[in-house]
Amino acid sequence: MLLIGSHVNYNSKEQLLGATKDAISFGSTTFMFYTGAPQNTVRSNIDDTLTEKAKVLMKENNIDIEKVIVHAPYIINLANTEKLDFAVDFLKKELKRVDKLGIKYMVLHPGSHVGLGREVGLNNIVTGLNEVLKDSNVTILLETMAGKGTELGTSIDEIKYLIDNTKYKDKIGICLDTCHLNDSGYDMNKFDELLDEFDKKIGLDYIKCIHINDSKNPISSHKDRHENIGYGTIGFDTLINIIYNKRLEDIPKILETPYIEKNPPYKEEIENIKLKEFKNKVK
Ligand code: FE
Ligand code: FE
Ligand code: ZN
Repeated sequence: MLLIGSHVNYNSKEQLLGATKDAISFGSTTFMFYTGAPQNTVRSNIDDTLTEKAKVLMKENNIDIEKVIVHAPYIINLANTEKLDFAVDFLKKELKRVDKLGIKYMVLHPGSHVGLGREVGLNNIVTGLNEVLKDSNVTILLETMAGKGTELGTSIDEIKYLIDNTKYKDKIGICLDTCHLNDSGYDMNKFDELLDEFDKKIGLDYIKCIHINDSKNPISSHKDRHENIGYGTIGFDTLINIIYNKRLEDIPKILETPYIEKNPPYKEEIENIKLKEFKNKVK
């Protein structure tokens, strides 16, 4: 079954139930969300009654909670020495919340070295990951990044370095992001070559999620500006080929494309993806 969904809203009132309703309204078979505002540490207590209702609704709609993804807040930067303690502490709390919701995977931006240099940054991330994964039931998925500013995790080799040096290999995985890969210099028209390299260096089994986004910018631009499916430099057909790649069949594909005049484009984009046809124009 095609596992396609989008980023959805999780609010303190309806929590996982609201997120599930959102996903179903877009015709999704999976989804991703933040457990609170990604730019601050304010978090509501998880209401288990809402979680149970959400699980029932998921079952009724053939959504497998094991394939649902949480995205870590982006204020967490494991690469920065000065902020490492805060990041580890907050990440541990987030992982507990995710576990309480019954979710298996959390996507994390590896971090930005903020001028400390790539090696220091990467080693800080390893230190942080070893600390948080020690007693985590949730698997952290390192996202491939565009290379904006001092971002790390912008190449297969950097992701490999992080995985190779992490103690808890059964609790670590990868989230590919098509916009980020394009912006960091990988040609999305040669996606199978990229998968070959991933397989040889790390192993395809580590890939647990794919963010499907078009890009506003050309390859190697290091910008990270997402575009709606079919409106960017990657293009509709190339993204369809990635979504339907045989080697990635059971992996959840998540849209993080921009809203159009305050409205989510996901229902139309998901329908186009299911049809493999650029039928609904979202703008
Ligand atoms: Fe992300
Ligand atoms: Fe992403
Ligand atoms: Zn992005």
